[in-house]
Amino acid sequence: MSIVDVIDRAKAEGRTVLTEIESKQVLEEAGIPTTTARLAKTAEEAVNAAKEFGYPAVLKVVSPDVTHKSDVGGVRLGLDSPEAVAAAFGEIAQAVKSALGGDARIDGVAVQKMARPGIEVIIGMSKDPQFGPVLMFGLGGILVEVLKDVAFRIVPLEPRDARQMVREIKGFPVLQGFRGQEPADLEALEKLLLKVSAFVEAHPEIEELDLNPVFAYKDGAIAVDARIVVG
Ligand code: ADP
Ligand code: MG
Repeated sequence: MSIVDVIDRAKAEGRTVLTEIESKQVLEEAGIPTTTARLAKTAEEAVNAAKEFGYPAVLKVVSPDVTHKSDVGGVRLGLDSPEAVAAAFGEIAQAVKSALGGDARIDGVAVQKMARPGIEVIIGMSKDPQFGPVLMFGLGGILVEVLKDVAFRIVPLEPRDARQMVREIKGFPVLQGFRGQEPADLEALEKLLLKVSAFVEAHPEIEELDLNPVFAYKDGAIAVDARIVVG
């Protein structure tokens, strides 16, 4: 399904927030690498999907009532067998129901492959009333939440903007590698920023975008969580 079809279907269903699965579909079509996710409505479907993607697998709740999936026990990582996947399916449903109450809508789980660990970074887009779409780049986790260590640029980005963004955050040394951790592929991050810029420029109906986190490796980078909000 094309980007426009996914957005139109969401709108027809009265939704402005695309699911992780839908968000990753449209990002991939735009050439932005993600851990592709597939919807499973039963434990059996989850096991079949995990088998196709390969182990270890990750399961995440798919629900219009959930924004932060891990806050409600909706993310299970490192599932290394069909039994672990089947058990996680039930545990997620249970955890989300007890966090949100019995009438929370759960559409199923998103099954995807567990990505190998990398440096967690965040790429976001929000719309400024004056400047329009603005891209944000920062390091993941507490660095962005507590220290607000982020760089902003107005869309469309020039290659020079992308270069500066990854280098101007205080946490830049982390991207260069430390204590034996592999450094991040800065060129891949710059390319990713430019692709996201082109993507949101081409689709003005996108109001918000969050790739949180992106795992950065010494060769390449991949979005493991994605959220797109349309107008
Ligand atoms: P949310 O942000 O809604 O709580 P995420 O999808 O970001 O949920 O998952 C929570 C955390 O789990 C991520 O920050 C990341 O560290 C890890 N994670 C999620 N998906 C994957 C994956 N496919 N491979 C490896 N780690 C993952
Ligand atoms: Mg996330």
